[in-house]
Amino acid sequence: MRLDTLAIHAGQRPDVATGAVTTPVYQTATYVQAAPGEHKGWAYSRGENPTRDALQENLAALEGVPYGLTFSSGCAAAATIMHSFEVGDHIICGDDGYGGTYRLFVEVFTRSGLTFSFVDLTAEGALEAAIRPETKAVWLETPTNPMLKVTDLAAVAEISKAKGLLTICDNTFMTPVFQRPFEFGFDVVVHSTTKYLNGHSDVIGGFVCTPDEERFERLRRLQISIGATQGPWDSWLILRGIKTLPIRMRVHDSNGRAMASFLNEHKSVEKVIYPGLASHPQHKIAARQMSGFGGMISVVVKGGLEGSTKFIKALKVFALAESLGGVESLVQHPALMTQASVAPERRAKLGIEDGLVRLSVGIEDIDDLKEDLDQALA
Ligand SMILES: *Cc1c(COP(=O)(O)O)cnc(C)c1O
Repeated sequence: MRLDTLAIHAGQRPDVATGAVTTPVYQTATYVQAAPGEHKGWAYSRGENPTRDALQENLAALEGVPYGLTFSSGCAAAATIMHSFEVGDHIICGDDGYGGTYRLFVEVFTRSGLTFSFVDLTAEGALEAAIRPETKAVWLETPTNPMLKVTDLAAVAEISKAKGLLTICDNTFMTPVFQRPFEFGFDVVVHSTTKYLNGHSDVIGGFVCTPDEERFERLRRLQISIGATQGPWDSWLILRGIKTLPIRMRVHDSNGRAMASFLNEHKSVEKVIYPGLASHPQHKIAARQMSGFGGMISVVVKGGLEGSTKFIKALKVFALAESLGGVESLVQHPALMTQASVAPERRAKLGIEDGLVRLSVGIEDIDDLKEDLDQALA
């Protein structure tokens, strides 16, 4: 089956007991057993729950692999993966990732004996130069957050494979609709389902998938032990959101493209960063490995901190909020919000300047969005 069909049907079958077309919310902690240890495959909901199972199967099918696990958040998914490493292991990460992932690695897992190098994976030779004898994995996001740098997935997979490194891609920004890391040789894909996958800004969730059964069993055991699972009600909401994922992504993409070219021509804008623009430094790689450019745009408006703050306050349709990927358009100020936990020197090095504003372009009418930006820029 193709993606649009999988989004609606994968992992979901009419309820055996009632014939309900929609997967029920199995709001239960436990399951009756016929005799000690004799059950129908569900024993306790930290380990397994039919609503969560349906979501896991659905999401794994969208990424094109057999095994997936959902978590109570994207950060919980990342933490569980990190728990699969050993004291002394070294992990190479992209240098411009989600602020919360950076904080998790540096503040939590460094204390547990892991070491991290944050490098610009778009720079020629940077990955090879960062590899040490104790390096075990490469963790990246592409496009990055908030600078939207695009990393060549096939190249990273090839270099990593030759060195025996595990490759992990956070595919939150693109979703399997526009980017398929496993097809480029990646080993693990992770998501914050909070964003595009759920798409309605009403749930926090995470997801990990892999084609490797042994790795999956290891992660599943860790998940059961740690307990960062997704509840049945949230699983159900995400399942419902996913049914419209492909159709939503197409509108995010067309609105994103239209908005990027509109901003690119605007006199109050200093710079537009969008992988779909020919001016983007990795536009060619983006066009090769992504089938859409999505709805995330970073913009440097004129006037620095004052200019960007005034602009944000004047917006009416775009809501000022953290997060992204919902049907509604959001705006945020990386230096003051999502990347505030990153030290100022590090932010400067990454190019996160005070005039930088990140837009998550929703699926509203493009003319209303353009008019909103136009009046706020004025
Ligand atoms: C939001 C986000 C995360 C963290 O996910 P939560 O669901 O908020 O815990 C990780 N990676 C990316 C790219 C994100 O946007």
